[in-house]
Amino acid sequence: MSSLASAPATTPVTQDVLTVPRPAPDGPVNLVGLPRPALRAALVAAGTPEEQASMRAAQLWQWIYGKGARDFAAMTNLAKDYRALLVENFTLARPELVTRQVSADGTRKYLLRVAGGAEIETVYIPEEDRGTLCISSQIGCTLTCSFCHTGTQRLVRNLTAAEIVGQILYARDDLEDWGRTPVEKRRITNIVLMGMGEPLYNLDNVRDAMKIAMDGEGIALSRRRITLSTSGVVPEMVRAGEEIGCLLAVSFHATTDEVRDQLVPINRKWNIAALLDACRAWPRLSNAERITFEYVMLKGVNDSDADARRLVKLIAGIPAKINLIPFNPWPGAPYERSDPDRIETFARIVNKAGYASPVRTPRGEDIMAACGQLKSASERARRR
Ligand code: SAH
Ligand code: SF4
Repeated sequence: MSSLASAPATTPVTQDVLTVPRPAPDGPVNLVGLPRPALRAALVAAGTPEEQASMRAAQLWQWIYGKGARDFAAMTNLAKDYRALLVENFTLARPELVTRQVSADGTRKYLLRVAGGAEIETVYIPEEDRGTLCISSQIGCTLTCSFCHTGTQRLVRNLTAAEIVGQILYARDDLEDWGRTPVEKRRITNIVLMGMGEPLYNLDNVRDAMKIAMDGEGIALSRRRITLSTSGVVPEMVRAGEEIGCLLAVSFHATTDEVRDQLVPINRKWNIAALLDACRAWPRLSNAERITFEYVMLKGVNDSDADARRLVKLIAGIPAKINLIPFNPWPGAPYERSDPDRIETFARIVNKAGYASPVRTPRGEDIMAACGQLKSASERARRR
């Protein structure tokens, strides 16, 4: 495990330089990803009169996050001189597309290049009643869950807030999703932080990005349309609940510490008991805001009847839903997917105990876009 994973969880793993606006000594400042106060401060630092700054910040916010403007020239309600000032000092940079793959089932996987040349993956999953964008919080992941392809990627850094929110902006461009109201008419109605990376090792940037996604003047997704998935970074869980207000998913995957230590190595640091305590402390926990327990079904490893019974015992009293995820294979993976009838029997036991136990249909498998299959192509190419 790298030193990132063992850093004290309350220390941000890297500093998001883009949240600290300054008068661009080394080039223009990217306005994307700045929280509102930082956006305003950046405008003032570039010469916007103090008394106009709040109005200008609101106008820019509308353009960037309400209308999806990609350049300042499009901002027709701003005077020409002011647009020139913006062009001189700022950019509206987004991740760049490297490849876009569309699955037979409509799932789209974007490989996006971020600053420094590294690549991340973002996945769009259309369903009948919703469209979910699965976004990445890190390039790769410092954790090494043994069933996850992302965990085998060596190249790792935190994404900035701009790069996190940039994935949403990019996908909305590609799906022509700007200007659709109400939210139900949009292609992207929900966001899950279930792409590459451990969001709670990059909480400050994830929070800033999600605050932007929830802001009513822009992307305006309600907090209950956003789900953050963690492998169990216990000391950051409650803060995430308080500061973002989103829903929580927990990558549980095993019912004994012995097995979980193998599957989700962070368990050696924060074990099942500690994780469940953090779940019980989750803000606003109720039947309306249940925790999703994700459980990957690995043949002969964690899929017995005894596991199912232990699982419901462990989470007793926690408003929860159990999402069973048939293992998605990747080249060289050391596991197999549980048989469908095993998954069904497991689901029935959990269901009988009073928990919804949907089995997640693998999406975009043909383009390696399903859960746990993400790993950027640049890394794959380099290895080859
Ligand atoms: N790092 C975070 C979020 C990203 S993973 C986390 O671990 O929660 C999203 C979900 O996919 C997690 O529950 C993860 O454990 C699961 N997953 C990882 N690899 C998988 C695979 N090969 N097959 C099925 N699910 C997998
Ligand atoms: Fe990282 Fe999540 Fe994959 Fe584990 S499952 S290696 S925490 S991305």
